[in-house]
Amino acid sequence: MGKSSALKRDVFFRSAKEEGYRARSAYKLLHLDEQFNIFANVERCVDLCAAPGSWSQVLTKKLNENRAADAPGATIVAVDLQPMAPLPGVIEIEGDITKTRTAEQIIEHFKGGLADLVVCDGAPDVTGLHDLDEFVQAQLLLAALNITLHVLRPGGTFIAKIFRGRDVTLLYDQLRCFFERVTCAKPRSSRNSSMEAFVVCEKFRSGFSPDLTKPLLDFPYATTPTDANATLSPVGGDRNELVGDMRIISPFVACGDLSGFDSETHYPSSATSPSTVDSTPIQPPTAPPYRQFMELRRGGAFDKSAPGV
Ligand code: SAM
Repeated sequence: MGKSSALKRDVFFRSAKEEGYRARSAYKLLHLDEQFNIFANVERCVDLCAAPGSWSQVLTKKLNENRAADAPGATIVAVDLQPMAPLPGVIEIEGDITKTRTAEQIIEHFKGGLADLVVCDGAPDVTGLHDLDEFVQAQLLLAALNITLHVLRPGGTFIAKIFRGRDVTLLYDQLRCFFERVTCAKPRSSRNSSMEAFVVCEKFRSGFSPDLTKPLLDFPYATTPTDANATLSPVGGDRNELVGDMRIISPFVACGDLSGFDSETHYPSSATSPSTVDSTPIQPPTAPPYRQFMELRRGGAFDKSAPGV
């Protein structure tokens, strides 16, 4: 990525560096808090899909401010497929949230206690095929929900990234089975051009016995409106809408300081503006997928004059 690339000139990318956050995503969680006050009275929290760790940084700061110096800190468990550089006060687990073993490891850390808040900023590597990306993202969210059902206390809050695609209303309806209030929120720092938004699920309902080994939300959908064995009827043979009492329209809110920075704002490039100064990353990636490529390139493996290239 060149020094003048649009990402490096992005206003939230730069603010993150100035304030010591590992990623610009930190502002998304901060903006969600401005609207929903999600950190109030939170003692225990799970950060799913946490690397490189800017949400964990926000959680550490917000959950521990106004605490007496000798009081124990909030419990924060962070999980990601990728290794994450250590953060003081954060228990880190390297694992796949779709795997039962990872879910069990998270649950073990709470030693029978329950979390007040579960957040998930998980995203698969997008392919650009919107239907496929939306499906994989929804599966990640359901894996996060499955874990949440085991660790969240009744009345607790679950927040997760979603892609606002064709089938998103079904997801809202499904989440409403478990939470009294489900809102779709778009933080000011989330780019307008992105289909990304966050579901804020408040007031976790009690009385449900989750099972890690059974697929969540595996309803027998009707294939025709007259299918007697089905519990839910699709609209027009489609699966993405529920009908009758099951149909719920979730509110959509934009959050964060709406008179603050626009997510599409960019600084001028250092190539054209002498006052723009480039700085180094707060936390370089611990195990970047492109490391082997860089090593090969440094070793001249892609040198056009090398034999066999
Ligand atoms: N919230 C993070 C922060 O503020 O630094 C950024 C999260 S990043 C957008 C998405 C993360 O999801 C990646 O680090 C990726 O490794 C993780 N991820 C994707 N699929 C996962 C899975 N199945 N299990 C665990 N982590 C996963």
